[in-house]
Amino acid sequence: MSSQANSKNPYAIAIHGGAGTILRDALTPELEAQYQKALTHCLSQGEVLLAQGGEALEAVEMAIRALEDEPLFNAGRGAVFTAAGTHELDASIMRGDTLMAGAIAGVTGLRNPISGARAVMELTSHVLLAGQGAEAFLRAEGLAFEDPAYFHTELRHNQWLEVRGTTQTRLDHSELPAHEGQKFSTVGAVALDQLGNLAAGTSTGGMTNKRVGRIGDTPMIGAGTYADNRFGAVSCTGDGEFFIRAVVAYDVIAQVRYGHLNLEEAVRHTLHQTLMEIGGEGGLIAVTPTGDLVLDCNTPGMYRAWVKQGENQGWAIFK
Ligand code: ASP
Repeated sequence: MSSQANSKNPYAIAIHGGAGTILRDALTPELEAQYQKALTHCLSQGEVLLAQGGEALEAVEMAIRALEDEPLFNAGRGAVFTAAGTHELDASIMRGDTLMAGAIAGVTGLRNPISGARAVMELTSHVLLAGQGAEAFLRAEGLAFEDPAYFHTELRHNQWLEVRGTTQTRLDHSELPAHEGQKFSTVGAVALDQLGNLAAGTSTGGMTNKRVGRIGDTPMIGAGTYADNRFGAVSCTGDGEFFIRAVVAYDVIAQVRYGHLNLEEAVRHTLHQTLMEIGGEGGLIAVTPTGDLVLDCNTPGMYRAWVKQGENQGWAIFK
């Protein structure tokens, strides 16, 4: 696969912090300001690298690390609880020039899952490592691990207590009693660098009260994440089981590749037709090889922020 990396292009980057039923009434101005601050801060971590001529892959990793460190979002610190009251983390990353990809699934204690995914991509011949084997590999490579207390947040714990002991699983951004109000979620980023390379990454704690061992779309290349310099880069968020069945990230790319749709049309078709036909809810962010950004969801809202070279940062929550 040849890279298009030969001339200088204007960079572009977008991030998401999950899509879902975000209730306007529950979002106080203070809370909204917190989201804005967190989203634009995390976006800046990627943007600054791109502005200096850094790689899209690096920008995606750095933006997602910041999102993972921010307890407002369901990834890294702030991840949701499993049925056993633990945290199992999933993440994936992909570069668009070589189609190299890495992912981890069901990993406990890893401070920055996205960096674990990158380590799998760069240091092994595999794409996806899961559970204890992944943990042993990442510890041996010197990645930072934390105690369970690091991942414990009151918000997620309360969300879990509401469904604990039942068979219900819940997207942390699904409709919740208004007093909870906060529906933070899975995080992701897509970027185009000045050399014309694309990258995408996604990271999550999954769904509240998920079975131990349950793995969603986030670490599945093609379902939650995809990047190909020729067609675009995509990072998804939503009902993982549906995103797996509709192979959402690659479905978007395939429509561009074989159906010759533009990325925006492809995203619209996948989210508003293909996914909705099977009852799947969520959203995604995507970037074209020339830096056009598409941020769309079939839910009332998606936490998102974006910037293109020479333009101001944008951010939004509602449709
Ligand atoms: N897609 C994630 C999962 O199913 C959840 C989310 O996007 O919030 O694990």
